[in-house]
Amino acid sequence: MGRAKHYQQEIEGLEEYVKGLVLREGIISECPYHSGIYLSEDYDYTPVFKIIAAEYKSGGLSHFSSQREATDFAKSTIDDVAGEECCSCEKWKHS
Ligand SMILES: [Zn+2]
Repeated sequence: MGRAKHYQQEIEGLEEYVKGLVLREGIISECPYHSGIYLSEDYDYTPVFKIIAAEYKSGGLSHFSSQREATDFAKSTIDDVAGEECCSCEKWKHS
């Protein structure tokens, strides 16, 4: 039994979940020219944290040991997937 592998899958699933959430809330958006690249639209993550907190309280994010851990994970996921500018557009602009 690969416990580590299982954990990895859960984390990947959670990243997808957080990504879907922030896309839906309009906090990040996909670059219109480069699919798979996301831009931060809004640095106020409060609406997402509220949803995460509610989800945690209802038992949906049970493998986090605290609500804080869940919201920290959400924040780092947003920071990982989205930047202020699309690096591909930037490269194209300067070439
Ligand atoms: Zn782009």
